[in-house]
Amino acid sequence: MSISEAIATARQRIDAASAARGRTESVTLELAVKTRTPEECREAARALADAGAPILLGHNRVQEARASAEAIREVAGARVHLIGPLQSNKINHALSCVDVIESLDSADLAAKIDARATGSLPVFVEVNVSGEPTKHGCAPCDVRPLVEAVAASSHLELAGFMTVGLNSPVEVDVRAAYARLRDLRDQAARDLGTGEDALALSMGMSRDLEWAVAEGATIVRLGTAIFGARRA
Ligand SMILES: *Cc1c(COP(=O)(O)O)cnc(C)c1O
Repeated sequence: MSISEAIATARQRIDAASAARGRTESVTLELAVKTRTPEECREAARALADAGAPILLGHNRVQEARASAEAIREVAGARVHLIGPLQSNKINHALSCVDVIESLDSADLAAKIDARATGSLPVFVEVNVSGEPTKHGCAPCDVRPLVEAVAASSHLELAGFMTVGLNSPVEVDVRAAYARLRDLRDQAARDLGTGEDALALSMGMSRDLEWAVAEGATIVRLGTAIFGARRA
């Protein structure tokens, strides 16, 4: 299957899941491009553009984001999100090549990014809703102080919430974790006095996008469903 065909198939899955839930707002497909070459990233960005879709690529590693930035930016309108952990010594590099940081998970990191950012930088708070020790993201109980730190910052702008879902085949368990992120988002919207629609919900991957869409995902991040198995 070509990347274009895989994007079309994924789009059908997303739309079918939305329709099944009676959802009318659009769900954005973000391509998770870890281990893909700059050329593959550019091809994928072009395929999204040809499909008339938002051109959104998610990078796990700042290194890879930098290496492919030039290729991706050849496609007009392409946007790059950081979806993997950000180490403080990579902040400047990240700021030079990504549009949004989806992996903000501590007030300490927020302060460090804020000190280096110029202008306005959209960030998502990443939450470890499944509680699995291998997962990144802040604990649900740390969301409120982190949201407050973002609100008090000079350059960061809260744009949404992100999670890597529970690694389980059990639908109720996976969906409960996604519902948790939605509840945290709704609470933050109330605290900030903004509409829930102003805060994205980035959740769902190749194996479970239907469950994430059912729980209100506004962005799903797909890797293997688009590119096939990952390289080591
Ligand atoms: C790899 C990755 C994805 C995509 O996972 P697939 O199972 O390949 O669809 C989504 N989000 C993050 C943070 C990832 O690292």
